[in-house]
Amino acid sequence: MNRKNIGKQLIVLTLAWILVVTPLAITAQTKISMPKNKYKVEDDVKIGREYSAKVENEFPILRDSESTNYIQDVGRRLVSSIPNEFQEPQFQYQFKIVNARDINAFALPAGYLYVNRGMIQAAKNEGEMAGVIAHEVSHAALRHGTAQATKQTSLKNQILGIGAILGGAILGGQAGAQLGAIFAAGYQLRYSRQYETQADLLGARIMADAGYDPRDLANMFKTISGQSEGGRPPEWLSSHPDPDKRFATINREAELLRVSPNPIKSTRGFVRIQEKFSSMPQAPTMAEIEKGAKGNTGGGDSGGGGNTTPSTGMENGTYARTVVLPSSRTRSYNASAVRFRVPENWKEFPGQSDVWFAPEGAYGKDGITHGALMGAYQTQQTTLERATEDYIKGILQGNAYLSSSNDYYRFTINGRTAYATKLSGRSPITGNTEYALVYTAMLSNGNMFYFVGVAPERESTSYNRTFNNIVQSIRFTDRTQ
Ligand SMILES: [Zn+2]
Repeated sequence: MNRKNIGKQLIVLTLAWILVVTPLAITAQTKISMPKNKYKVEDDVKIGREYSAKVENEFPILRDSESTNYIQDVGRRLVSSIPNEFQEPQFQYQFKIVNARDINAFALPAGYLYVNRGMIQAAKNEGEMAGVIAHEVSHAALRHGTAQATKQTSLKNQILGIGAILGGAILGGQAGAQLGAIFAAGYQLRYSRQYETQADLLGARIMADAGYDPRDLANMFKTISGQSEGGRPPEWLSSHPDPDKRFATINREAELLRVSPNPIKSTRGFVRIQEKFSSMPQAPTMAEIEKGAKGNTGGGDSGGGGNTTPSTGMENGTYARTVVLPSSRTRSYNASAVRFRVPENWKEFPGQSDVWFAPEGAYGKDGITHGALMGAYQTQQTTLERATEDYIKGILQGNAYLSSSNDYYRFTINGRTAYATKLSGRSPITGNTEYALVYTAMLSNGNMFYFVGVAPERESTSYNRTFNNIVQSIRFTDRTQ
């Protein structure tokens, strides 16, 4: 007996229980109210647009018009069933398929929805697939992203809040992955328990109105929960409130809704797309995609920073207890938009849009303990200030042990406005306090240049001098506007 069958039996049992315990419960559907939100609707639109560009840059979007049209049809039917009070004319819902095997789906603010091919393949019928989409549509309609940011306490946090929440989505990443971060995308987005419940309830209502059976949403996560790859449950399967509770809540709500006696279950379109998908080569997992992309791009151009992300070749190093000091002799390094000088005894590990430097004994699979990295950070931000904040946020999220002093120094690098700030924390590699000096400046193509120097705090005297020398040696070679 496999897990799937056990799941099925559970559902049958639970449904039976509901029928017995709540016979003919004719009450009003649960009231849902829009959460408090300090942000303008335009902010949702702006953020959604910005981050969707990033997502589509990093995720393999399936370019198959038949299946894309199909998913858009289902999506539009659900969107047109959003209750009037939650319809937002400024939101342009759009639905795209990510060619990934993991069973997942996620929504960005203002209705940018992404559905993994694996989710469509795993669903038993169109109803189950629509359930997940309805849940995500509800997060967007109720503006949960910016509502969550509203709850942040300090003024600064409010500004950074959206970035932090979406950062959770976009830049997230656990112990370190820089690119991995972005692949963690929808997968990391965490809403409060209250918002998850709201999305389930509104999702159920939308489903019923669109001619589906809301119980299919419950069925979907019940049957899939044992199958999701990679450990971390996908967003829509959020563990808070716990899945059993959600299952019960949705089914209870279904009793209060007017559900078609003949709801949409399987459709010809759904069967056709599933057949098409199973004839395609198997989709890669997000982890595989991430790995491949890392090899291709060197990992630098896609979001959060982080000194725990090794570039190619770096993973072969071993960490030594003592590391040779930076030599006072330097050599020149030329990158596409910048040139500078580094200590002669630092090895280089170039990626496509970043390069890491470290002496022997200071690099390995977990990144560097002594050395520096620099690169170009792709940003939609137009000010150095905001771009720097985004970038720092990414580093902090990718390196949970680091924290920021929140002091930014404004100065110039080769005549350009620059910021510098210090991060520090106990290094998981050495167990000693590590600090990272981060310097940023804008490039003429709109990307942000960053330099990050990393060293143990107790060696700061010599490393501060080294980092300072490198920054002084920087010459921007991109054309200024
Ligand atoms: Zn959710």
